[in-house]
Amino acid sequence: AEKIRLAICNSAFSIQDKPAYVTGSIGLTLIQGEGQTSDTVMREADMATHRAKQHGGNQVTFYERGLQSEVEQRLWLEHDLLQAIGTPNLTLHVQPQFGRDGRVTGGELLARWNHPTRGAVSPALFIPIAEETGLIGLLGSWSLRFACDALLALQEAGETYPLSLNVSPRRLMEPQFIESVRDTLANKGIPGNRLIFEITEGVLIQDMQAVAQRMQALSRLGIRFSIDDFGTGYSNLAYLKRLPLYELKIDKSLVQDIPNDSDSIAIVQLILAMADQLNLRVVAEGVETESQSRFLFEHDCHALQGYLLARPMPLEAWLDVVRTRRRSATGAAG
Ligand code: C2E
Ligand code: CA
Ligand code: CA
Repeated sequence: AEKIRLAICNSAFSIQDKPAYVTGSIGLTLIQGEGQTSDTVMREADMATHRAKQHGGNQVTFYERGLQSEVEQRLWLEHDLLQAIGTPNLTLHVQPQFGRDGRVTGGELLARWNHPTRGAVSPALFIPIAEETGLIGLLGSWSLRFACDALLALQEAGETYPLSLNVSPRRLMEPQFIESVRDTLANKGIPGNRLIFEITEGVLIQDMQAVAQRMQALSRLGIRFSIDDFGTGYSNLAYLKRLPLYELKIDKSLVQDIPNDSDSIAIVQLILAMADQLNLRVVAEGVETESQSRFLFEHDCHALQGYLLARPMPLEAWLDVVRTRRRSATGAAG
């Protein structure tokens, strides 16, 4: 197989005087005695080829047992996710964020999928698949409409803080994205400044200029931007000055090492000092303990999000909390 692969990729040729080449991705499987039909053998080899391509192509890959379940999982995920969009099985939960004075400053919307037979499926599993298959467009526009309805319901309950929505890189770069955001906001009657889009640093590396343009166009609609998982990946921070940013979100992996790990503490302090210089707001996610909360507020973190304060919950549950608080506040005042 390796000889074949080399033969393929060493045979350079030219098209209209431009050099061209091809690469080969080869999948192998072993025929092991009884019980295998030509169909299963071909399917196994096919899966191995798929794996070779997934890993960058131009390589030889063996079929492994585990591949089978991985591929099967992908297939049902993909198929059932499409079915679930727009049904009550797929929804967004809200996790409130709190300021130092205990007041709610906003909330993050997080996707939740309750599969009819398999139970809860983590967004960490189905979001990447939605990205790869293009379903993220459908999911994203549905989420935006959900966010607008949630903002309207909150407004009715007397609250005007913004909600944060995770926006995947692929969605951000879709040609119709800005147009569709503009239309949805106009349809729902929601001003853009009640939405914060969370994007990860990864997207910034790909094509900074194009991303900056998109962000600027969305900023003109009033939308604000937060860098999600900040402090975990990219180290070239020049982009912080070039993009219309509102907020940094310190990743939970850093927060969870407070107060025991001196490296994480140093990084968190650095992020807070830098954000202060750049006039950016900072939210810490994944806050689970009192000592994390104390440390972060002592170092002037603006808002906290995490199990210590509130878990993600259905929108209705959050609206109940809001209404009860309001009632007891007006009761106390009266
Ligand atoms: P993320 O944006 O970093 O979201 C934070 C994750 O931390 C959420 O996991 C949340 O439930 C969890 N979390 C909140 N508080 C705590 C805490 O105190 N301790 C711990 N250990 N975890 C906490 P979740 O909901 O499973 O989401 C996982 C990831 O899936 C998100 O990471 C985000 O990248 C993606 N995701 C979720 N919903 C959406 C969505 O609607 N659209 C897109 N594009 N991505 C989404
Ligand atoms: Ca997020
Ligand atoms: Ca995170």
